Amino acid sequence: MAPASSQFDAAIIGGGVIGCTIAWRLSQAGMRVVVIERGEIGQEASWAAGGMLAPLAEANRADAFLDLVIRSCAMYGDFARELREMTGIDIAYRTEGTLYLALSDADEEELEHRWQWQCEAGLNIKKLNADDVRNLEPAVTPTLRWALRFPDDHQVDNRQLMVAVAAAAKKASATFLLHTEAHDIVSSNSQVSAITTSQGTVQADTVIFAAGCWSDSLTINGTRVKNDFLVEPVRGQMIALEMPEPRMQHVIYSSNGYLVPRHGGYVIAGSTTEKVGYDKRVTASGIASIIDHAIEIAPNLAAQSVRETWAGLRPKTKDEWPILGTDPGIKGLIYATGHYRNGILLTPLTGQAISELVTRGESTVNLTPFNVARFDQDLRRSA
Ligand SMILES: Cc1cc2nc3c(=O)[nH]c(=O)nc-3n(C[C@H](O)[C@H](O)[C@H](O)COP(=O)(O)OP(=O)(O)OC[C@H]3O[C@@H](n4cnc5c(N)ncnc54)[C@H](O)[C@@H]3O)c2cc1C
Repeated sequence: MAPASSQFDAAIIGGGVIGCTIAWRLSQAGMRVVVIERGEIGQEASWAAGGMLAPLAEANRADAFLDLVIRSCAMYGDFARELREMTGIDIAYRTEGTLYLALSDADEEELEHRWQWQCEAGLNIKKLNADDVRNLEPAVTPTLRWALRFPDDHQVDNRQLMVAVAAAAKKASATFLLHTEAHDIVSSNSQVSAITTSQGTVQADTVIFAAGCWSDSLTINGTRVKNDFLVEPVRGQMIALEMPEPRMQHVIYSSNGYLVPRHGGYVIAGSTTEKVGYDKRVTASGIASIIDHAIEIAPNLAAQSVRETWAGLRPKTKDEWPILGTDPGIKGLIYATGHYRNGILLTPLTGQAISELVTRGESTVNLTPFNVARFDQDLRRSA
């Protein structure tokens, strides 16, 4: 059952990295906060991720989204320090940077394009010849032609991050209702008032929708969330391999996959991008393709043993940008969902922006391009 005094300033639906970070920030600001989580804390996408903080390696153009991810990435050093001071947990923030390998004609064309527009935009990107790359990472394939280096694209251990933000929220006095499924967001006179759940009703002046890819499990005043707002699941399978010596230091991309070296002597290889609904199975073909691509990057991985395999569901919106900000029709209803491939990267900024919105009514981050209303207005993007 929901606690007897279940009246809160803010109720957050979803105990992933996004929901827990917002809970932490709002509790720090002195609000009475509850996180409603239908399972255990942080066992979905936030646990399954690769932990890459890669605003530039994956960017195809300069736009509002690029500004957002660069800004969040720049917050990570302080964010990691604050979490360590608050909880004693080290989230393994690593700043070696990211390499992107050109292995084929098509890769060369793609990376040349990325190099040119990112240089013109004044972004921090370097071009390395094959010898330079092998000096940095001796395990890289001899078929390498050249590579891009993104010195400011980093990584964290997302599972440690998840544990840390949940611990920080608890320490700041947030309440957690676990094994409690949120069903309906209730408003009266266009103002949010409560959430009905599997364990009773929770009263709250503000409701934050941070349910990852499960938007269609909820209703608002008894009506399913409209189709435009649907956040769909996109499965990503992953594999952890023992890491050979000499140990890799950088996150390494190819056009087919990536390797993320972790403290503790293993490397994560990813991933698949599959629209298979809420199916979180690890499949033979998924793992086979990830292993092929991992060995294409670093042939000495072929002899390594498999430590773990898993899969998770990325929350994807229609245009692949997150939904951040207030509902246009219901006061007190705020969205923080649809982070797709970049939810770990966007965690510090989402926590800050949403807590500012709740506590001051506005954010220092321009959230207009990410408002849910964009789906109604068919806003054009800069190309
Ligand atoms: C394989 C893979 C690799 C990835 N790699 C990276 C990466 O390298 N870098 C990066 O930045 N991002 C990465 N991501 C993306 C990132 O993991 C997500 O964007 C991020 O974790 C989303 O966080 P979230 O809190 O919104 O969602 P989730 O972690 O999915 O949490 C949502 C929570 O809401 C709960 N919930 C849902 N519905 C209800 C309900 N009705 N009532 C109560 N609770 C509910 C769920 O149980 C869940 O715990 C990756 C994702 C995957 C799957």
